[in-house]
Amino acid sequence: MPVSAHPDLPALERDPVTMRVLVTGAAGFLGSHLTDRLLGEGHTVVGVDNLSTGDPENLAHLAQEPRFQFVERDICRPFDPGPVDYVFNLASPASPPEYLRLGLETLRVGSAGTENTLEIAARYGAGHLHSSTSECYGDPLVHPQRENYWGHVNPVGPRSVYDEAKRYGEALIMAYHRSRGVNTHLARIFNTYGPRLHPSDGRVVSNFLMQALRGQPLTVYGDGSQTRSFCYVDDLIEGILRLSRSGEHFPVNLGNPGEFTIIECAQAVLEVTGSKSTLCFESLPEDDPARRCPDITKARTLLGWEPQITLREGLRKSLEFFRSKAAAGA
Ligand code: UDP
Repeated sequence: MPVSAHPDLPALERDPVTMRVLVTGAAGFLGSHLTDRLLGEGHTVVGVDNLSTGDPENLAHLAQEPRFQFVERDICRPFDPGPVDYVFNLASPASPPEYLRLGLETLRVGSAGTENTLEIAARYGAGHLHSSTSECYGDPLVHPQRENYWGHVNPVGPRSVYDEAKRYGEALIMAYHRSRGVNTHLARIFNTYGPRLHPSDGRVVSNFLMQALRGQPLTVYGDGSQTRSFCYVDDLIEGILRLSRSGEHFPVNLGNPGEFTIIECAQAVLEVTGSKSTLCFESLPEDDPARRCPDITKARTLLGWEPQITLREGLRKSLEFFRSKAAAGA
């Protein structure tokens, strides 16, 4: 993995069949899985990350990969990676505790950072996919959520740093598409889990798995009746790739429509881990959405995509990663 401290990387030799791809947030959970998938398809990847929430360990296995370059930098400062064919913009703090801790950074990466990636796509005539989120729907009044629902978002609540950054990002993407003709794509990503989800970033699946494996009580916020829809990471990456190769420029929901209460999620984790942990109840964070479930009709119709992996299967596939983290004292 040639690491370059230089902000403006020289262009790599381009293969006519394969692409040179920029992945921002490459050291993150989704970014590292997407990078693996792109390299597996034979593409060359430039991965950028400022490591504010990403983990270099997620890319450690690529140390000897000649088609991968890692650049540690903040995309909020303009940069030029050299000619690229496609830009996947995945850089952002994404778990509630992390974006609450990094509120200003989250707003900046969703606005200035995202604009810098769009400038790169415009400069090189590259395609661009932006990782938007189900948070654009806020605490939804419509269920399940379809892409034409405009959402119910508190613009000044604690979560607004993430929600509004992502909503602004969507407006920016559409403006670059309309005004500058950039071939943009917008993925509205619902809760996703799997190996490399940071064991301490505070998400429900990583918290529950780590707590179950350590024999600690599972921390259920509120009464646990709120719902989420959990998509296994491999399914999500497949959806992202299909969307990036489609002609759709408006947002597309990507997520697993299987809806679970947080109590049901805790039960699934206990079952899969065989843990005897108990549940303990803690206060519900402010503006925590009560229900969330994607309507994926659009993705099914346009992309021929739907998740294949059930929650219990996905938890089983995630076990080895979280076991090794628990054993290492993470
Ligand atoms: N949650 C929980 N216990 C935890 C972490 C999260 O009960 O240890 C709840 C949280 O309040 C929310 C849901 O699980 O209702 C999903 O939280 P997460 O942070 O994973 O993602 P969100 O969908 O809120 O962005």
